[in-house]
Amino acid sequence: MDVRKTKHYYDVSAGDAVCTCDYCRNYVKEIRSAYPVLAEYLETMGVDIEKPFETMPLEPDESGNITYIGSQYVVLGDSSGFEETDIAGVHIGIADSHPMTGLQEEHFVLEVSEIDLKWTIQENVQKSN
Ligand SMILES: [Zn+2]
Repeated sequence: MDVRKTKHYYDVSAGDAVCTCDYCRNYVKEIRSAYPVLAEYLETMGVDIEKPFETMPLEPDESGNITYIGSQYVVLGDSSGFEETDIAGVHIGIADSHPMTGLQEEHFVLEVSEIDLKWTIQENVQKSN
């Protein structure tokens, strides 16, 4: 993997590609504070945890929590040097399948699973109105 190119990608263009649906907005809002150690680990690869390529949410439950069965992150370069691991109870592997990335450069897609977060995006929308 190419950490320098990956970091550049997250600094410059990954933010524009982040989905703006409620599920993804909730993920972006909550992920770093809920999984600080995972955020640090991804950062060593140049990945910004708040800029997922894809999230796979279930529905929020009645107690105000939501599970994402996975989330995906683009990493530039080839997958040599990357090894599957578990960080803070979360598995980090290479995605078997993912949507088209549209990237011309060599890259691969990480899959992080599972993620449990608070569901706070609705409250936030009401407050801001
Ligand atoms: Zn989304």
